[in-house]
Amino acid sequence: MTATTDKNTKTDETATNSEKNDFIRAIVRDDLASQKYSQIVTRFPPEPNGYLHLGHVKSICLNFGLAKEFAGLCNLRFDDTNPDAEDQEFVDNIKDDVKWLGFDWAGEARYASSYFGQLYDWAVKLIKQGDAYVDLQSPEDIRENRGNFGQAGKNSPYRDASVEENLQRFDDMKSGKYGNGEAVLRAKIDMASPNMNMRDPILYRVMHQAHHQTGDDWCIYPMYDYAHPLSDAIEGITHSICTLEFEDHRPFYDWVVDKVGFDKEPHQYEFARLNVNHILTSKRKLKKLVEDDLVSGWDDPRMPTIAGMRRRGYTPEGLRDFCDRVGVSKSDGVVDFGLLEFSIRNSLEHVNRSMAVLSPLKVTITNFDEAVANVETLKKDSVKTKLDNGVLWLTQPKNSHDDSQGMRDIPFTKEIYIDKGDFEITPPEGYKRLSPQNPEIRLRNSYVLKIEEHITDDNGEVVGLTATIDPKTLGNNPEGRKVKGVIHWVSASLGKPAKVRLYEQLFNQEDPAKIDINNLAAEINPNSLREVDAIVEPSLSQVNAGERFQFEREGFFVADSKDYSPEHLVFNRIVTLKDSFKP
Ligand code: ATP
Ligand code: MG
Repeated sequence: MTATTDKNTKTDETATNSEKNDFIRAIVRDDLASQKYSQIVTRFPPEPNGYLHLGHVKSICLNFGLAKEFAGLCNLRFDDTNPDAEDQEFVDNIKDDVKWLGFDWAGEARYASSYFGQLYDWAVKLIKQGDAYVDLQSPEDIRENRGNFGQAGKNSPYRDASVEENLQRFDDMKSGKYGNGEAVLRAKIDMASPNMNMRDPILYRVMHQAHHQTGDDWCIYPMYDYAHPLSDAIEGITHSICTLEFEDHRPFYDWVVDKVGFDKEPHQYEFARLNVNHILTSKRKLKKLVEDDLVSGWDDPRMPTIAGMRRRGYTPEGLRDFCDRVGVSKSDGVVDFGLLEFSIRNSLEHVNRSMAVLSPLKVTITNFDEAVANVETLKKDSVKTKLDNGVLWLTQPKNSHDDSQGMRDIPFTKEIYIDKGDFEITPPEGYKRLSPQNPEIRLRNSYVLKIEEHITDDNGEVVGLTATIDPKTLGNNPEGRKVKGVIHWVSASLGKPAKVRLYEQLFNQEDPAKIDINNLAAEINPNSLREVDAIVEPSLSQVNAGERFQFEREGFFVADSKDYSPEHLVFNRIVTLKDSFKP
């Protein structure tokens, strides 16, 4: 089966119509062909200590994508072993984000915390087998005695305590007789192992802290490295996929699964994490941006969180396409941000079009009344118009690619706004828009306009234009001359004021590894958010929050999901129209 599960968007077709062929899919194909498994089971295991980000999108697309492609299952499991930083708010948002991306998990969402009882019993089993002991050394001594890369660790004086003593101490840990940091349960492996992760790693620590799922039931909590392989085994995970930094943890993963003893063992596979230039993909660092008020929240449209990207107007199709294009590999690299924008832009090709003037310059059409008076006799059949009280209503499809979207009425009036950038008194070379030397241009969906005069203020800045329209050019080419260029415009009297937010990279620094986390305020691009007062087509006051548009010649925009209302129009720029990026 290929990944082409739905063909609703162009990007799905282009990016995934050939079978994906990365090393993980090769392993899965082999495992299914050799009947090692009749069905694969993967999992996505976020810790609910923050919002998901672009890096997680890759992991989600991989884990849920594999299940979809190979008719398997993918679980959503909260790895909630550290109540300190975790919260129900994060649990809820993570679920919501996974669904929004277009994936669903097998059965109910799962929690490592719902296995705490089982994990505890297995810890007791390890103690009884002589594979675990309670260490009462101070945290400093534990660290000191662990040694380092060139130097073996030292055995703890508690390492050879009897099974009975260890059982008693572990029970004491559980019943709250020790304070935080006074006791830990450790695996008994090898303090001289060249792999630091095998030097008697900690399985449980004391934490007198309530948990978002289990309340006050526990004052000891398992470590991630202990809970994770066992949670995988409990759920019958076949392919446990994580990022490369866990490669050195795999021997311990296997040790735990083996010592507890399962018929069917999960296997861990590691792939390269996603790094994208200009973008931070670390929950911890993103949290700092939020906590230091450097952004408006986890869903600030400049944030690479799923919440932020959603609000920015990115599409799930675009994000999935991006992950497909990046692929899955075993070597670290940094992906160009342009590729992300490329995928997003592709996914937006078919959204409805609209006109918005971001930097308004008023144009008074001096011959408006005479020019439109005879519109009924002059217009072509294909042009639908209605003249009403000084307003010429031009009816246009909302979407030239898709008739089912219906029509919209655009009012054309004596005074209109065009963009300041579309008129220059002294145009630079190659300038194709309006200037005294090139006074004629087509108004999109409307007539050919000819500039007569420009009005300047005391500083010489152009503050208004007067112009005429050629009455014969509605839906027709002008006679006897060629007019190059088309510009967008909005009625001055009937257009609606709107706030338009223009976004750029949050960080100018290209290499995410070089973004100074201790000086984030100084790293922020001061132009990352610019809000302009725009005038938009009146139809944009009757759209839904979250609806996406192409503003003609300006880019792709979305009605802000939080701040947009029919009385208060707010749009976010999703992405500009063109980029030189070639994937
Ligand atoms: P962070 O450092 O941002 O907190 P994490 O790995 O600690 O990331 P988890 O919630 O534990 O966050 O991650 C859930 C899953 O997402 C893990 O399997 C992890 O490997 C994967 N993941 C996290 N970041 C990336 C990334 N940049 N690229 C690919 N996968 C990632
Ligand atoms: Mg983590």
